[in-house]
Amino acid sequence: MRVLTLLLVLACAAPAAAAEKQVLIRLFSLHKVSAVNLETTAPVRAAGAQFSGKARIAVKGQLVVMTGALQAGPAKSITVHASAPVRLSGPGLPRRSYTGDIVFTSARKQLKIVNSVPLEDYIAGVVTGEASDLSQPEAYKAQAVAARTYVLKHLRIHAGEGYNLCDSTHCQLYTGQGAVSAKALAAARATRNEVLYYKGELAATFYHSICGGRTERMTDVWPFEAKPYLISVRDGPPGHPYCSIAPNFRWKTKIYFSGLTRLARRAGWILPDEEARGLKISRWGASGRAAELELRTQRRTVGLGATEFYHGIGRRAGWNAVRSTFFRILNGQDYVLLDGKGNGHGVGMCQWGAEGMARKGFKYRDILRHYYPGTEIGHD
Ligand SMILES: [Zn+2]
Ligand SMILES: [Zn+2]
Repeated sequence: MRVLTLLLVLACAAPAAAAEKQVLIRLFSLHKVSAVNLETTAPVRAAGAQFSGKARIAVKGQLVVMTGALQAGPAKSITVHASAPVRLSGPGLPRRSYTGDIVFTSARKQLKIVNSVPLEDYIAGVVTGEASDLSQPEAYKAQAVAARTYVLKHLRIHAGEGYNLCDSTHCQLYTGQGAVSAKALAAARATRNEVLYYKGELAATFYHSICGGRTERMTDVWPFEAKPYLISVRDGPPGHPYCSIAPNFRWKTKIYFSGLTRLARRAGWILPDEEARGLKISRWGASGRAAELELRTQRRTVGLGATEFYHGIGRRAGWNAVRSTFFRILNGQDYVLLDGKGNGHGVGMCQWGAEGMARKGFKYRDILRHYYPGTEIGHD
């Protein structure tokens, strides 16, 4: 009798097969879409029926309507249960494959498409895009844990809009399940449910492409509350940064005063009748990156945050012109020369540094501990 009781208790205590956690992702979030083409090679269910082949879902006022291989609506929403991959495409849209439930609704005369994706499939998709330049499995694993932690910490970022995350770099780039790489999938599986904590709280796992030799203290870049693990760390032995293996570790950009004037006027840093005549760094951050700049015109000096300068130039002249705020400035007769290192904001994990560490034999736990000092891996 006693044995039987014990067995029953054990049976109850055994973990039930946990339902896979799902995240709601808004697809094509940067595009204005009023209709989308669907294509499937295996039968999938939608609106209470089954279809395969080609169909189209379009906005009709406040409603949506499906035509082609299956007719449905007009209805408030149409859900496609993509048990097999469904390819979505349309004018001006990239062709991408998705699985899981895809809900189509009308929002302000545009098609709103929200895909329910198992968390781990989503992580594999994100890591595919974010780590595409890297090759080391341990770097992929570090990226998977950072991406998973980032997702779980930001699940409510779009809460008012009816989904968890958008598919653009505003949240994390997600291009569907069609092109998931084997390395990304393996990294997601090997680190399943692992996230980074700092004193029991999910860590803010920012990351960037190349730090240039030193990561930056977060508060020198953004006006957020300081985090003890988002400090400036030296990325490897003196003179031999882990990320120095990256292509374009160093860069140089010459900006003529005429071009700088146009950019500065459009950004509103100077008045329409002012001309840029010089640029210098007036304050440095903990890592040696520029924190504040002074832009000189024919009649005054304008103070400018280095991050604002970096974003302002990036948005107007492309992100390859000024790749980071880790530069020194040489003033010429009619130009400034920016002699720089690194790529990206410099906060948190350096992705190319992770690759460099992995090539030297470090494991993903060492990599995460190096870039987010004081954090520890736990299970979600
Ligand atoms: Zn977003
Ligand atoms: Zn680095």
